[in-house]
Amino acid sequence: MILYLATSYQESANLRPMHEFSLATDVINLAQNEAEKNGATIIREISIEIGDLSGVEAQAFESALELLVKESVLGDAKIIIIRNPGIGRCDACDRDFEMHHRLASCPDCHCFPSQIKGGEEFRVISLLVD
Ligand SMILES: [Zn+2]
Repeated sequence: MILYLATSYQESANLRPMHEFSLATDVINLAQNEAEKNGATIIREISIEIGDLSGVEAQAFESALELLVKESVLGDAKIIIIRNPGIGRCDACDRDFEMHHRLASCPDCHCFPSQIKGGEEFRVISLLVD
């Protein structure tokens, strides 16, 4: 059975100490609640999406999660982390461009993006449970 989740986390770009640890704890609690709600006893797989502009350091988050899952309901689960690049929209040039950080500007005209179209998400996408 696959559970698709709609939960989204709003994160500020301000990184606090232990920020990734508290996020990892939230994710484990969420997984446990969802599994219980659906009468599942085993979580085989969890997919998490992290945008490059989400303010979450993906590597630090993954390390924190790996450390914390050992004693949890996710202890035997395969953890899949999907990284999404930041995508900015430049109206002046009528193009999208990749943003590696929040202050990236259009490579053609050096304007700041009129809109950020991707990369701000941090969410649990799905759980594979039995
Ligand atoms: Zn431009």
